[in-house]
Amino acid sequence: MHLATTDERARLCPECGMRAHRMKEWVTTRPRDLPVAGRVCELRWRKRRWYCDETACARGTFTEQVPQIPARSRLTARLRRASGAAVADGGRTIVQSARDHALSWPVVAAAFTAHALRVLPTEPEPVTVLGIDEVRRGRPRWTWNATAQAWTTAADRWHVGFVDLSAGQGLLGQVEGRTARTVIDWLEARGTAWKEQVAYVAIDMCTIFKAAVRAALPHATLVVDHFHLVQLANATVTEVRRRVTVQVRGRRGRKGNREWELRNRLTRSAAWMHGEHLDPMVDDLLGLPARIGAPILAAWNAKEDLLDVLALARTHPDRHVIAERLFRFYDRCAASGLPELERLATTVQTWWPEICAFIRTGITNAGSEGTNRVIKTVGRDAYGFRNPENQRLRTRCATTRKSRGCLNPA
Ligand SMILES: [Zn+2]
Repeated sequence: MHLATTDERARLCPECGMRAHRMKEWVTTRPRDLPVAGRVCELRWRKRRWYCDETACARGTFTEQVPQIPARSRLTARLRRASGAAVADGGRTIVQSARDHALSWPVVAAAFTAHALRVLPTEPEPVTVLGIDEVRRGRPRWTWNATAQAWTTAADRWHVGFVDLSAGQGLLGQVEGRTARTVIDWLEARGTAWKEQVAYVAIDMCTIFKAAVRAALPHATLVVDHFHLVQLANATVTEVRRRVTVQVRGRRGRKGNREWELRNRLTRSAAWMHGEHLDPMVDDLLGLPARIGAPILAAWNAKEDLLDVLALARTHPDRHVIAERLFRFYDRCAASGLPELERLATTVQTWWPEICAFIRTGITNAGSEGTNRVIKTVGRDAYGFRNPENQRLRTRCATTRKSRGCLNPA
C-alpha cells in the first residue's frame, strides 16, 4: 500500500509551527501497521523533507509527520496502542501480544505501560465496603544461619490489596509489605473525604489489618467472614484427629483406621451431607476406642456448633438466637477439655465483634479472594515477575477489566 501525505499539518515545522514552502527531497519510510483482515499490510510512505525558512527558527529541515506516525516512529500509533491494549484489556501476556503483532517484547511492554496509565483511573471512586487481603509474591526463600544453627527467612514478599466490594471497581490498589504502616499509608493517601465514605471493611483474621483499619478508618465496622473461620474449625478437627491417633496408635493414621478413612467426611458440613453418610459416621466414631473416638466427635460437634452460628448470617436473627448458639459452641469447647478447642473458642471470642458484624450484614471478603485468584493467574501466565511495580500494574489491569467494560460481550 503506497501512502501519500494529504494532511496539511504535516508541512508545519515541528519547532516553530510555520508552514514550509521549500522542499529538500523525497524520503520513503515503511511504517508498520495493524493487519487488515488477518493479513499483514505493508506500507510505503513517500514523504517530503522540507526546509524551514523561518529566520528565527533553529530547525534546518524536517520530514512530514502525522499524528498516527510521529517523526522517527516505525510503528503506527494504533498498532502500538493495540499491542498494549491486548495485554491490559485483553488478558494476553506480553509475549503473546508481541507474537500477534510481530513486535518485540520491550516494545509491547512499553506500549502496555503507556496504555495502562491512560486507561486506569488515578484515584478510586468512593467505596462503601472495602476488602483488604494479602497475597504472597513469589515463594519464600530461606538461608541457613550457621551461628544460630537455624533456617532464617531471606525473602518473603507480600502484596496487600484493596478491593471495592460494593460498587465493583475491582482492585483499587496494591502495596508491598504486610505491615500496618503500609496499609495505613495507602488509606491516608486517599484523603479524608474518601475515607469517610467507607462504612465496612472486610478482612481475614489478621491483627495487622485490624490495627491498621482501627488507626486509619476508626468509624468503619470491621467484618470477618465465615470462610476463614470454617477453615480454622476444620483445621482444628484435623489437628485433634492427628494428635489422638499418634498418642493412641503411636503412628500416623492409615487405611484400616476408621478415623483416618473418615478424615474428609469430618471436614464437610453436616448440613450438606446425606443422612446415609452422616449417621454411620457418628456411629463409627462412637464405635472406635473411646480415647480416639470421643475427642474427635467432640471436635466435630464443636465445629458443627460454630457452623450453626455462622449459618445465621443474612437471616436477620434475634440477638438471643445468636447468643444461644454461641453459648452452645463455647460450652462444648469448655466441656471437651481439648486444648485445640479451647484455642478455637479463644479465637472466636477475640474476633467476636467482627464475626457478629458478618452475621448482621452478610458481608464477605469473597471479592478479595477472587481477586487474589486473578492475581495468581496473571503471575503464573507471566512465569513470575522480576519487577514488583510491573506486577502491580499488570494485576491492577487484569482485576479492573470488568469495571472498565473489557469483559462486556456486547
Ligand atoms: Zn521552524
